[in-house]
Amino acid sequence: MPTLEVLQDKERLQSLKQTLHQYSAPAAEALIERHPNGDIRCFACGHRCLVKPGRDGVCRVRFNDNGQLWVPHGYVGALACDPIEKKPFFHVLPGSDALTFGMLGCDYHCGYCQNWVTSQMLRDPKAVAPARRFTPEQLVDLAIENGAPVVASSYNEPLITSEWAVDVFKVARSRGLKCAYISNGNGTPQVLDYIRPYVEAYKVDLKTFSDKT
Ligand code: SF4
Repeated sequence: MPTLEVLQDKERLQSLKQTLHQYSAPAAEALIERHPNGDIRCFACGHRCLVKPGRDGVCRVRFNDNGQLWVPHGYVGALACDPIEKKPFFHVLPGSDALTFGMLGCDYHCGYCQNWVTSQMLRDPKAVAPARRFTPEQLVDLAIENGAPVVASSYNEPLITSEWAVDVFKVARSRGLKCAYISNGNGTPQVLDYIRPYVEAYKVDLKTFSDKT
């Protein structure tokens, strides 16, 4: 028999997923491969999941609904305007601020993650963060109002939310801002080609000094 705690966690996860489904849009065709039986191969990160109808990818935020892959869009799970040296970038507009946004979920599950509350929200009931609806224009307005010449995607893994980041970056670049990724580097040629026209600075975190992790 499942314990009360397990049942409560299942309910919490179900309600969280229903909320996140409201913040979703169809995946970019450049980042998927459709199969005749409805399965979809996702190329947004190096896991290259084959996502079957009714299932999620490893990241749990990209999901196959009746042969359509839906992906995060139109919200933030974390948002801050802080020095670009915190990203850290040391040779991209030194001394300036970066408006930095992140979403929920991650393709990794590192026990030492500094952003556990957002990155592991779909895996750990103790990780709780709010999802707030935003448009690209609102995020770019915020960057400009705060004097930040850079917009960055960080906190969770940005590769798994690349469609949303690119939509934000298109507006940011049209208004003269620079755009950045702070990533674990678990990419694919397809996702790098997809973001390349919009991302001017890309940092890969060194996650560990241990071979095991
Ligand atoms: S982003 Fe990565 S983990 Fe998520 S569905 Fe695509 S390949 Fe799988």
